[in-house]
Amino acid sequence: MDKTSGIKVFALTDTGRVRPSNQDCVYACAEEGLLIAADGMGGHAGGEIASDLAVRSITELLRGALPDQPGALATYGPFLLRDAIRQADAAVRDRAISEPSLAGMGTTVVVALCRPEGIVVAHVGDSRAYLLRGDGLLQVTRDHSVVGHMVDAGTISAAEARRHNLRNVITRCLGGQGHAEPDVRLLNWMPGDILLLCTDGLTNMLEDQEIEQILRAEADDLAACARRLAALANDRGGADNISVVLGRMEDDRG
Ligand code: CA
Repeated sequence: MDKTSGIKVFALTDTGRVRPSNQDCVYACAEEGLLIAADGMGGHAGGEIASDLAVRSITELLRGALPDQPGALATYGPFLLRDAIRQADAAVRDRAISEPSLAGMGTTVVVALCRPEGIVVAHVGDSRAYLLRGDGLLQVTRDHSVVGHMVDAGTISAAEARRHNLRNVITRCLGGQGHAEPDVRLLNWMPGDILLLCTDGLTNMLEDQEIEQILRAEADDLAACARRLAALANDRGGADNISVVLGRMEDDRG
């Protein structure tokens, strides 16, 4: 646990059982209170380059950027995350333009900046954030995807979305045509609450109820929790790269 942020973190990414490479990229730093998951796309190594570039760009921009003063997260956090994602979007696009072999690459991203007084979450694409609280598992983000919009509209259920043949089609990404506008949310959390960032390699394989059960069962051991989530996604076939990033607010920050 870090005394500044008051959180514990753990991150893992797993290639799964089908894909030849891992195009996801994760980051977790307790000291900075910063968690990121990104899911790259594009052939010829483009997906790996896009997700890695987005994560590096965002970590560099956010490192030390939040003033150490009361209320800073609510005041500056949303602006900082929005700006960092816009700059990462430009970085991925510029790289794809400068290297023709990388044309068409892009990436999703979900970013959380955590402090004891709250969390700012920003995302583009269908990588998700969930918050486990006393009263249940809250899906913090709404997918920027064709099936995500259908779920939001009530046309199909979440279970149908996981099986839908358009489930991989996202409507916003970093590095794509047009500029990626993130959704940004400010949330409160309590000691013991757990924030989960993940890619669709997890959420297409597990139901929210299963995710909640594992988070609660392993709440004291974030590494065990992440490994169990990835193992279950692999047991179901591991059809895609699986990423799990966890942050827990601690009781005692002394
Ligand atoms: Ca994926």
